[in-house]
Amino acid sequence: MDFAIADRDTAELDRFRHEFRAWLEKNVPADRKQPVDSQELDSDDYKWFLGFRKELAKHGWLYPTYPKEYGGGGLSANHESVIEEELTRSNVIRMGVTPNFVFPGLLVWGTEEQRQRFLRPLLTGEKSCWYKMTEPQSGADLAGIQTRAVRDGDDWLITGQNVFITGGTGPDRPDWLYGLAITDPNAPRHRNMGLFMIPVPSAGLEIRQQNLIGGDDQHFLFLDNVRVPGDHLIGGDHQGWQVGATSRENEHGGTGRAFPRDEVMEDLVEYARTTKHDGTTLGKDPVVQQATMDAYMDAHVQALLLKRTYWMYHNRKEVQYEGNVGNVHGRESSLRQTVRVREVMKMYSLLGTKEPGVPHGGAQEVSQRSRAGQNHAGGSTNIMKVVLARRIGISRTQERAPVTPATAGQQGG
Ligand SMILES: Cc1cc2nc3c(=O)[nH]c(=O)nc-3n(C[C@H](O)[C@H](O)[C@H](O)COP(=O)(O)OP(=O)(O)OC[C@H]3O[C@@H](n4cnc5c(N)ncnc54)[C@H](O)[C@@H]3O)c2cc1C
Repeated sequence: MDFAIADRDTAELDRFRHEFRAWLEKNVPADRKQPVDSQELDSDDYKWFLGFRKELAKHGWLYPTYPKEYGGGGLSANHESVIEEELTRSNVIRMGVTPNFVFPGLLVWGTEEQRQRFLRPLLTGEKSCWYKMTEPQSGADLAGIQTRAVRDGDDWLITGQNVFITGGTGPDRPDWLYGLAITDPNAPRHRNMGLFMIPVPSAGLEIRQQNLIGGDDQHFLFLDNVRVPGDHLIGGDHQGWQVGATSRENEHGGTGRAFPRDEVMEDLVEYARTTKHDGTTLGKDPVVQQATMDAYMDAHVQALLLKRTYWMYHNRKEVQYEGNVGNVHGRESSLRQTVRVREVMKMYSLLGTKEPGVPHGGAQEVSQRSRAGQNHAGGSTNIMKVVLARRIGISRTQERAPVTPATAGQQGG
């Protein structure tokens, strides 16, 4: 199996690569490169990045595989792989704006009018949206949310709280929140909620910064009778769990990755190869060698898992458990990598970006901090194992993958 995406035209892809690389060289200024620690990016970088995204979108390069009629590029997965590789190579700033999980829910469950109103400006980079799910009492148990949506004429009034909501840098705010609320407290679990596009700003909505160790931008949300028009409900008023499941499938690895890379492992191999120790290089030490090769193996297994899922998804093969395997392995192996880095680099792995002579500009310290938190984002590792157990049929309940753009006959993901 070579994980090829169907219809691969090598000459056309080479031409495309040259075109895109030349464009990046012309359009990415030297002072807009990704710093080792993304906390060094500020609101000015964010504003530049929003403009850069719009330029990418004009060429169809921002969300390449989504349909053109909804603001995507209408390009193939092969083109997306080239785009990812070249963006990485250019080292241009990359910041979170709208989580990718939002798009499949809108594409599969939105009406034509909603796709044009919400999905199109998100995919063209004109607007942005945050993913509003976790509440103080319900993270792993997402179906236990307490946020309520009460009908008021054609509108809904939404009241509740959220924590850990990832979003733009500093004071930047999105145009919408994509999130769940209980619409019918008397209906059975999973059939009692709707999924809403909540306009920002709105009367009764407060957003506060929540600082975590990783340095990403998380937020507390407080909603007090926030008025949401009836046509901002995606899917039916009892279908929110299903709409959210289409998004979670993407969040939990169901589309794989075009160009997976583990820079921590690459830096570690480089460190072992070049660091002088006892008249030779560190990599000749048998203990260092073992730890570094374990890191090398984990990174390769992870890349293969992600590419397999990507290949399956874009060839429209049914992805039942493969995305979840990559998700669980990625979370657990990423923590193993941090332990190996500490074993090999010792205290050097904990030096910050500003320390003189710090290896790899301090990338290892940043990764030590962020990888632990990332294991909790998107539902914790334990929950990913619960989902995987259901998918492979050893759990009390059994589960098939929810509908995705690919299985709904749509492009994009
Ligand atoms: C960096 C970061 C970014 C995030 N971004 C967002 C975002 O943009 N939007 C959003 O909505 N949320 C976001 N989250 C929240 C994230 O989805 C939750 O943290 C996650 O779902 C876990 O919920 P919790 O923190 O409430 O943990 P809890 O639900 O309190 O779980 C605590 C522990 O108990 C374990 N546990 C709970 N139930 C079970 C069970 N049945 N079986 C086995 N173990 C169990 C969990 O694995 C975990 O280890 C983010 C979190 C982080 C750290």
